[in-house]
Amino acid sequence: MKARGFWSKSRIVEACLIGTSFLLVGAVCLWLSLKDKSAANTADISLKGERLYSLTLDHQEEIDIPSDHGHILVDVDVGKIAVKSSPCPSQYCVHQGYKSHEGESIICAYEGLSITLRSVGGVEVIHV
Ligand SMILES: [Zn+2]
Repeated sequence: MKARGFWSKSRIVEACLIGTSFLLVGAVCLWLSLKDKSAANTADISLKGERLYSLTLDHQEEIDIPSDHGHILVDVDVGKIAVKSSPCPSQYCVHQGYKSHEGESIICAYEGLSITLRSVGGVEVIHV
């Protein structure tokens, strides 16, 4: 038992320790990146620059907004909001799906609709 292979017991332990520390660093980085985006609790809905609604995301609701080319259906849920249907040709706003973090927004340029998420009360995150 003089010559030990490269993967001796101590080397395996060492490799495991290095691997674990990399995992820890990764987990901390992930946690920090998620922490920066705090959950929104309020959504402002504007049409052509005019604010129509300012609602809290604590209930389920479907909002019908008459626009130039038909109706925009906005789906409100607890902690999230989405454009369910829109008469715009690209459907880009619909494909954006649900948004739930403060600072995020859904824009429909064709109809002039904008939904902006923000967080009211609690700890405010200040972005410089
Ligand atoms: Zn659209």
